[in-house]
Amino acid sequence: METFEDHYDSMLKALNKYMPGADIALIEKAVRYAADQHQDQKRKDGSPYIIHPLAVAEIVAEIGLDTDAILAAILHDCIEDTSSTFDEIAKEFGLVVAELVEGVTKLTRVEYSTLEEQQMENLRKMFMAMSKDIRVILIKIADRLHNTRTMQYQTPKKQISKSMETMDIYAPLAHRLGMQKIKWELEDTSLRYLDPEGYNKIMAYLEEHDEESTAFMRSIQTKITTRLSAVGIHGSIYGRVKHVYSIYRKMRDQNKTLDELYDLYAFRVIVDSIPDCYNVLGHVHDLFHLVPGRFKDYISTPKPNMYQSLHTTVIGTEGIPFEVQIRTWDMHQTAEYGIAAHWKYKQGGDGDGDEKSFEWVRRLLESQQDTDAEDYVQSLKIDMFNDEVFVFTPRGNVINLPAGSTPIDFAYAIHSGVGNAMVGAKINNRIANFDTVLHNGDIVEILTSRSAKGPSRDWLSICKSNQARTKIKQWFKKERREENVIHGKTSFDAELRRSGFNPAILHDDELLPMLLKKLSFECLDDMYAAIGYGGLTSTKAVGRIRDDLLRYTRGIQNPTAGGRDGSPLRAAPSTTLNRHSVNGVIVEDIDSCMIKFARCCTPVPGDSIVGFITKGYGVSVHRQDCPNAQNRADPKYASRWVPVHWAQEDDQPFTTTVELDCITRSGLLMDVATVLTSVRVRVKELSGRDMPGGHSSFTITFDVKNIQELNLVVTKLLNIRDVVGARRGQG
Ligand code: MN
Repeated sequence: METFEDHYDSMLKALNKYMPGADIALIEKAVRYAADQHQDQKRKDGSPYIIHPLAVAEIVAEIGLDTDAILAAILHDCIEDTSSTFDEIAKEFGLVVAELVEGVTKLTRVEYSTLEEQQMENLRKMFMAMSKDIRVILIKIADRLHNTRTMQYQTPKKQISKSMETMDIYAPLAHRLGMQKIKWELEDTSLRYLDPEGYNKIMAYLEEHDEESTAFMRSIQTKITTRLSAVGIHGSIYGRVKHVYSIYRKMRDQNKTLDELYDLYAFRVIVDSIPDCYNVLGHVHDLFHLVPGRFKDYISTPKPNMYQSLHTTVIGTEGIPFEVQIRTWDMHQTAEYGIAAHWKYKQGGDGDGDEKSFEWVRRLLESQQDTDAEDYVQSLKIDMFNDEVFVFTPRGNVINLPAGSTPIDFAYAIHSGVGNAMVGAKINNRIANFDTVLHNGDIVEILTSRSAKGPSRDWLSICKSNQARTKIKQWFKKERREENVIHGKTSFDAELRRSGFNPAILHDDELLPMLLKKLSFECLDDMYAAIGYGGLTSTKAVGRIRDDLLRYTRGIQNPTAGGRDGSPLRAAPSTTLNRHSVNGVIVEDIDSCMIKFARCCTPVPGDSIVGFITKGYGVSVHRQDCPNAQNRADPKYASRWVPVHWAQEDDQPFTTTVELDCITRSGLLMDVATVLTSVRVRVKELSGRDMPGGHSSFTITFDVKNIQELNLVVTKLLNIRDVVGARRGQG
């Protein structure tokens, strides 16, 4: 079992290694103070609570942080769990220590729930941003490391949720800060709880192969050592099996079994100087066969998290590939403890943790180039977070906003509907003004109302994000549009009535698309809006569609007119719209445009025709022999003459038969007939007969221009109630 003395002694030992002059008396005072505060608390294993903060302080000392950080580690749970306060700690141990403890406390209070990837990324960034002082994160990671080590005392439920949190937040954070050793331990321990089976399988395999592994590693180690001493390079060689989670992940990602796994072993050669690194590399490549494409020089181009080493993968006479990492002792320290290592060097051992040191760390991080795409260079630039703020929705989602953002930005970041309906805001459960600046970790709630008047123009100067600004502007534009639509509609309807049409005619599903096409608008509202703001007069709009309206109203008054073969189902003369033809004319290369027939030559189907692109009235169709169409070669007009032809030339109607399978009911035939009328196909034959089992079958023979039209007809038929199937007949 862990004891107080063990942790205390190892902490002092670690401390003594890099900070021999540390203020031990002050540290002892902090231990006494914390022990006193936590007096009544026990850990889950029954031991006194103080063991935990002490163990955290030990890790912090191993990382190599300064005295303030060690004091803060000892006191890190005081504000959260005891009657101790910020002011008291500031009085006893200084403002810096109190601020560190408060920072750790804040992170402890961040609620974690399983979030999606992007949210997790935001949460990690928020962690970084919330701990303005990098030591806060380092202490928090140490705290988590010790909690992970003592996870066996937690309930199974807690083991899993905490392990997920460790995998999602703390291990990536440790990675970003370059703390490989801690990252590995966090991952391996968490895996043990998240996938015990997978973990145990790997462990069992490693244990089973322990003897040969050890022998193998020893032989490689000896080979390298012998060579290095022969050439006079002073170096330390370590061999290890890669950590469990990295093996686990490789198996999963590459879908391989343990036996198939490529490289399980890693060797590390640590030397005194950079030239020695390259010398060792040469010798390693001389001793073993190089596996091509695996050499990486992270010394000349360090990873974004400051990691430096030479990596190479080689294969020996045993036929087992292994990785060799070559680095100096300085690089090794950085590889193990990342940022913290640099922190320590800058400290110079006097424990004077001033702002300048942080500036130094920041500059270092900023200067890191994006040298390795696998790494998340963005997330390491702590400085970058100066212009970002991370806040929570009441449900715990993290929203990332520009620094200085207000509840207005927050609302529009959620959804423009929320922003437009906003009537109030709460920050951390208190009503707040719209211009209140949000801080990291704030929980923001937007109060909305259906009767909200919408954004006001001052919001444009209050909000900070482009997103909010754009959405507010859009709202104003759209608002005006709605007014325009209303005015436009009033005017257009009045003009329709003046011309003798009922505005309700526009509701006809078939007529409307045709009219819109003719008017060149996507929808009626677009046209109304255009009339509303004066882009089009209602007189002109009605004028353009007058002919169609007349033709249509006549059709309605006499729906069975023109039934040459006497069929009652015969629709009005076919005006079926082909997607590419307007008024039966196809303009090459132009999908949809207005067509009018020139008054000078009144072309009729069968005439050779040609089109002229007018200014603003679509294409005017002339007979090729029309006097007005004789200037086609004139360079001034040549580009405006376009080839056109009658749609029927390409789309000769073809006769087809469809058989409908229906459940028998009265009125069904009428429904089928109505649909056929509405789609305006030329029906040649329609017959029905009863089938067994309450079914009936209709055989319909009709003309269509093309398959699209046929499909449309069939779709409409299938939409009729009790029509359960349709198939093309052989006719
Ligand atoms: Mn703790």
